[in-house]
Amino acid sequence: MAVERTFSIIKPDATRRNITGKIIDRLEGAGLRVVAQKRKWLTRGEAEGFYAVHRERTFFNDLVAFMTSGPVVVQVLEGEDAIAKNREVMGATNPENADAGTIRKDFAESIEANSVHGSDGPDTAKTEIAYFFAETEIVG
Ligand code: ADP
Ligand code: MG
Repeated sequence: MAVERTFSIIKPDATRRNITGKIIDRLEGAGLRVVAQKRKWLTRGEAEGFYAVHRERTFFNDLVAFMTSGPVVVQVLEGEDAIAKNREVMGATNPENADAGTIRKDFAESIEANSVHGSDGPDTAKTEIAYFFAETEIVG
């Protein structure tokens, strides 16, 4: 295993309920370190660009509306095997299918409002980090 970086978003359903600290506690508890973080309100263009891979999906417009419905917290997480570890602590996309003790099982409201995003592989991690952060903003 190697030290990796991954990209994370705490989504608007979680900022609305003021549970960003509870989520960060889960990430840190899993051995992930927050090496960059900012709170921002995504523009429609930013959300559409970020989720461009899903643009043909039936849920795309709703997803963009949800992701721009309130502020988010964008983060870079660092740690051993960080990409897989983050996906593990997040849990399945649909909270009904998520394992006990995962963030989505415990906090998600629905398959759409599922509290967190995490990169799904090394290439997406690199692209997604660069979408929101300059290298100088990442402090390991
Ligand atoms: P993940 O976030 O687990 O990687 P996907 O990349 O498949 O999941 O989907 C991106 C996001 O789109 C999900 O986190 C969720 O917010 C939303 N989404 C996925 N599938 C659906 C669906 N069937 N209905 C509504 N929203 C969905
Ligand atoms: Mg995904």
